[in-house]
Amino acid sequence: MKESLNLRILLLLALATSVAATEVCAQAPATEEQASSPMVVAVPPTGKNQTTQRMQDHRFWDKKNAWLFAGVGAARTFDYFSTLNLRRRGDVEILITNDVVDNHAAFAAVEAAGVGVSIGASYLFHRYGHHKLERWTSVVHFGLATTGGVRNYCLKTAHPKTAP
Ligand SMILES: [Zn+2]
Repeated sequence: MKESLNLRILLLLALATSVAATEVCAQAPATEEQASSPMVVAVPPTGKNQTTQRMQDHRFWDKKNAWLFAGVGAARTFDYFSTLNLRRRGDVEILITNDVVDNHAAFAAVEAAGVGVSIGASYLFHRYGHHKLERWTSVVHFGLATTGGVRNYCLKTAHPKTAP
C-alpha cells in the first residue's frame, strides 16, 4: 500500500521534471531578461554547455547572436518561399537542381541545413575567439539569402510559349 503511493509520487516527480526540462529547452535561446516566467528561474541550468560558454568573452547565445540567427532563419524562410514562388512561375532555380526544389520537404531541409551550418560556423569562430568573424558569418549569410530571395521575386516571369 505504501509502496504504491511512493511509486505514484515518483511518477509525478518524473513527470514534473520532464515538463520543466522541456520548458527550459524551449526557452533556452531566450535572453536572461525574460525573468517574468517563474518556471525558468526556479529550475537551475542543466546543460554543461552553458558553463563552458560563460568562460568565453560573451555567451554564444547572447542577444546579438540570437537576433542574427533569427535573421538568418527568416532570410532562409524568405528564400524558401520566394524560390517556390519562382518555381510556380515556371523559372529555373539556378543554385540547386529543380528536383530538390520541387520536393518541398527536401528543399525545406536544405534551407534548414543552411541555417544549421551557419550557426555551426559561427560557433566555431566563437570558440576560437574570432568574435568578429562569428558575427559576420550571420550577417553575410543573411545578406546573401535576402538578396537571393529578392532576386527570385524580381526575376521576370517566364511565360510558356503556347500556341494561342
Ligand atoms: Zn563570440
